[in-house]
Parts: sequence; structure tokens; C-alpha cells
Amino acid sequence: MKIQNYINGKFVNPIKGNWLNNYNPAIGEVYGQTPNSTKEDVEEAYKAAAEAFPKWSNTSLEKRSKILSKIADLILDKIDILAEAESKDNGKPIRLAKKVDIPRAASNFKFFANAITQFSSEAHESVGLNAINFTLRQSIGIVGCISPWNLPLYLFTWKIAPAIAAGNCVVAKPSEITPATAYLLGEICTEAGLPKGVLNIVHGLGTSTGQAIIEHPKIKAISFTGGTKTGAHIAKIAAPMFKKLSLELGGKNPNIIFADCDYQKMLATTVRSSFSNQGQICLCGSRILIEETIYEKFKKDFIKKVSELKVGHPSEENTDLGALVSKEHLEKVKSFIDIAEKEGGKILFGGNKVEVENSKNGYYLQPTIIEVSDNKCKLNQEEIFGPVVTIMSFKTDEEALTLANDTKYGLAATVWTNNLNRTMQFSKQLQTGIVWVNTWMLRDLRTAFGGVKNSGVGREGGFEALRFFTEPKNICIQYE
Ligand code: NAD
Repeated sequence: MKIQNYINGKFVNPIKGNWLNNYNPAIGEVYGQTPNSTKEDVEEAYKAAAEAFPKWSNTSLEKRSKILSKIADLILDKIDILAEAESKDNGKPIRLAKKVDIPRAASNFKFFANAITQFSSEAHESVGLNAINFTLRQSIGIVGCISPWNLPLYLFTWKIAPAIAAGNCVVAKPSEITPATAYLLGEICTEAGLPKGVLNIVHGLGTSTGQAIIEHPKIKAISFTGGTKTGAHIAKIAAPMFKKLSLELGGKNPNIIFADCDYQKMLATTVRSSFSNQGQICLCGSRILIEETIYEKFKKDFIKKVSELKVGHPSEENTDLGALVSKEHLEKVKSFIDIAEKEGGKILFGGNKVEVENSKNGYYLQPTIIEVSDNKCKLNQEEIFGPVVTIMSFKTDEEALTLANDTKYGLAATVWTNNLNRTMQFSKQLQTGIVWVNTWMLRDLRTAFGGVKNSGVGREGGFEALRFFTEPKNICIQYE
């Protein structure tokens, strides 16, 4: 597949003619090329967006909503093509792409097609002053959307859908590692009747294309999902230009298990929250904390369940774990496993690369369980972002809470308990943006999404996303 930029409704090659190789992680081979766009391409994208903005921001909500809804329908019509492209580009099991990633990309457009029609201005009567205040929510203008490789189309559309629903025009960059479905989205947008220039997609490295977007003085807001280090860099560049920022960053999420939980549901969900998408989801519960009284039982049952997972070629329907996204990422994840024992950890299951039949150069790793005793170890403090979880026991609620909060991250936490008081105490005191109780990754698109501490700044999701992609303007009218 040869990928091109999508600018002003047309597919174009990068101006300077720089290209990157695109790898299929399942077999470790190059299968296509993607542009490495420069600031000249970003400028073209900006110009197209700026030209489209006056008309698009004045397009009726009904019309915007219809176009977004049509994009959602077309994504679902093309689910097989998109799922195959996503799985090939990223290494994720095709089953997961079909069941989660692509339907969710469609839901993002459907949801914001509807939400924008419900998003209204506020009015306040200043009684006694003969004045009425109302707050307009106006489109910002040209906004930048930058997304990572782990949930490529899912997260790309999570930003683009609210941005264009709110009347902005967009310069967007997917990850250079997984550009395929973003490329296919261009075609879908044209087919759905999205006017040219409303969405412009530039491909390339973070250091060239991404950097040009964040440095562009007229791109007034940036919605970014990716690593914490990149987020800090973006914040530094954006601050002197007073850009509006939403940063959705890394996590090191605790999965806290109490003896009074629904054990079988917890066990099945914990396997999912540990290893879905090869553990490459920012919300994965990578630190499992278990109440001491059920620790040994949990350990035995968890190892048994995990040993039943099938690591295999992503295109096979019965594959549970596909390939990791790249060779570099595989080596990075493996390097954490390699320090486990030096850090006092014990590998209870997995830990090795896997050779999958007919795909022996693919980037496969066993699901890995490491027992640790010190929360200060690197394995419990750094984001690994792969199929590696640690387990450790705790004795009291206080200890569990201290351990859970003892990292620089604060994205999500899961608590397994049937005790109402404990549910409330943990929900209130966990230092995270999201707390799941007796479930994991259940998402209602109306709810706010985002992290605290080094996991990010700002919230997306529901009206929060529409608030981010609009500027409030207060208008105060006094009458006689
Ligand atoms: P990354 O930070 O390396 O890259 C993310 C995106 O930023 C890519 O498109 C990349 O090209 C771009 N980028 C890199 N340098 C840039 C620069 N200087 N200027 C502008 N753009 C730049 O992250 P990644 O490795 O693609 O993704 C994995 C990370 O994403 C993990 O840390 C994970 O936790 C995080 N993540 C967070 C969420 C969330 O919602 N909080 C969701 C998914 C992934």
C-alpha cells in the first residue's frame, strides 16, 4: 500500500518526496510506504483548512451532523477492509479490530453527529441589573490532532469527529507506524460529502510532521494522545504561543482485587485488562494488586488462564495476542522483562519471544506475569506498554490505596469489591481520571475521559470534547 497525504480533498505525495517504510509486524517485513511530510506539506494542509473554515463553521448543525453520520455508516460498510488494514499495520488480532477498533471509530462519528445538536449555549439573566448574559461556543478555527499507533483509527477519529462537529477545520497526523486506516478515512470522508479542506491528513514522523503542526503559529489548539515525554515536549512548544492543549498520555494503572469480589468475573476481566491488544492500551491494568488472603489462589488461577491464551498470526480468528507493533517496541518491552530478576522480581509465566508458524520474523512475545514485592521497582513505576503485568499482594485497604497511588501516572484504576463503603472510599481517593469498579474499559461516550498527574491535562469525551474544540464567548446585553 502506498499512502498519500489527504489535503484539500485530494490525495497528494509529500512535496519534498520523503518516504518512510511501512512494516507488517506479523511478518517483520516492509509492505508499503508512507510520506514523511515536512513543514511545506503542513503549510498546504493549513491553507486548505483556513480556506474551508469560514464556510464550514457556518454550516448548519443539521448538515454537519448528517455528514458525520454518513462517515460513520461508511466506516461500518467497509469494516472488513478497515479491520484487515488495521490488523496488518498494527499486528492486532483481526478479531479485535473487527469487534472493537473499527466499530468504535464509527461510534465516534455517530456520537458526535448527535452530540453537536444537543450542545447549546448557556444564558444567565442578571436579575436587578436589567442584563442578560449568554455564552456562545464558537469554533476555534484550525486545530491539530495527533494520535498514537495502539488504537489507530479509534483514537484518530476520537479527536477528528468532535473537532469537525464543532465547526473547526483540522490538520491531523496519525502515527507514522500505523498510517493505513487514516489514509482510508480520507476516501470515506470524500464519499460522505465532507467539503474539501475540512479534514486534512498529513503523514510522517513526529519529529518532522508532528513538530511542524505543533510549531505552526496559526494552529490554535492541539489535541494529542501519546507518550508522556512527547506530551511534555508539545506543552513546552505550545506554551509561548498560548495554544489550547488537550494531552492524553501514558499510564501505569492499578488493578486492585479484594477477596470479597465476584471472583470468576474478576479473573476473566483481569486476563483481558492485562493482555488485550498485547497490553498496548493506555488503560491496561498493568499493576495487579491482590488482597493477601486470595493471593496464592489468584496466582495459580491467573497463570492457568493466561497459559491458555494463543499467541498467533493476527489474521487468524482464534488468535488472542497478535504481534507487537514494531521491532523497536518489542525490544523495549523485552528489556523490562530482562531486568525483572535483577530488580527482585520473579517471572511466573512467559517472558520470551515467540516464533509463530510461517511468521518467524514477526514481533511476538508471550503474555508475561512477574511477581514483585517492591512497588518502587522500575517494572511498577515505568510504563511498559506491552503484554507484561506485575502482581503483588497487600494486607489492608490503606496499603492497597498507597500502592495504587504510588506512581507518577494517574490515568485509570480498577477496583474489584462488593463492599459499598470500600467502593466509595477508593473511588474518591484514587488519584486517577477514571475508576472502574467491577469492570474494565466500559466506555459510555458521554463521559469525560483523561488522566491526572503525568497522564495528562484536560478531558475529552462527550461534551468535554466539544468544550475543548470551542471557545466560550460571554455576551452581556443591558436593556432599559
Ligand atoms: P508517541 O508520543 O511516541 O507518539 C504519539 C504521536 O505523536 C505520533 O503520531 C507521533 O508521530 C507524534 N509525535 C512524536 N513526537 C512528536 C513531536 N515532537 N511533535 C509532534 N508530534 C510528535 O506515542 P506512541 O508510542 O505512538 O504511543 C504510545 C503512548 O501513547 C503510550 O505512552 C500510551 O500510554 C499513550 N496513549 C495514551 C492514551 C490516553 O488516552 N491517555 C491512549 C493511547 C495511547
